[in-house]
Amino acid sequence: MKLGLLVCLTRNADIEDKIKRVAEMGFASCQITCWDMDCYTEDMAARIKNALDTYGVTLSTFWCGWSGKAAWNFYEGQRTLGLVPAERRAERVADLKRGSDFARALGATQIATHAGFLPEDPNSPVYAEVVTALREVAAHAKANGQYFLFETGQETPTTLLRTIEDIGLDNLGINLDPANFILYGKANPVDALDTIGRYVRDVHAKDGLYPTNGRELGAEVALGEGKVNFPLLIAGLKALGYDGPITIEREIEGEKQIADIISGKALLEKLI
Ligand code: MG
Repeated sequence: MKLGLLVCLTRNADIEDKIKRVAEMGFASCQITCWDMDCYTEDMAARIKNALDTYGVTLSTFWCGWSGKAAWNFYEGQRTLGLVPAERRAERVADLKRGSDFARALGATQIATHAGFLPEDPNSPVYAEVVTALREVAAHAKANGQYFLFETGQETPTTLLRTIEDIGLDNLGINLDPANFILYGKANPVDALDTIGRYVRDVHAKDGLYPTNGRELGAEVALGEGKVNFPLLIAGLKALGYDGPITIEREIEGEKQIADIISGKALLEKLI
């Protein structure tokens, strides 16, 4: 396993500086996440490739956002996230295809996204529509030589497994975010490996707490301060033969983010 760091691509911040920081902090790989589709230009692709080469950093997965409102809670989230809301679906399928094309320009062989609150009821007509839309995106990624990875969190492991089975393509995988299973109250991430572990192709090292009310996600916290049992999780991944990246994600900004990344890296280095 090798440690990586998640960085965010935006128009206003210098991506070269962010990739340089990845290397300076001692990480071998990174994921790049992007929610601004206007960044998907040839010029930006060239800048990123150049920075990755210059600083000797590998891009493990390009994480594609999508346009429109996103609310990260249990009420609005059902209606706003991913490919589940019907009124946004076609636009977001197009966003994800563009993300896949941009990732191809970067040489990325994996893309990931949040698909939304996948319906737990496989008989729901929405479930069939979402599976069809996801198959279209995953087929596009396949044509670009990429795996399509589900970011975990908004559904139970069983529903995620069923969705992968029903899409039925051979380029599907999972970006395991163990904290998300906890923040959304959907599973213990260590136990989830029994169900979906064989599909894991990238990992977000993130920690968090379970929800304490029925409307809002649990809180994300620094690695080691939450409910993710990283010793058991890393051991479980090893038992599955996983030898891919462990990519630190800390969803805050500023000095505390840097400090938490440094302490998280030290914790993980003892485990991998
Ligand atoms: Mg994540």
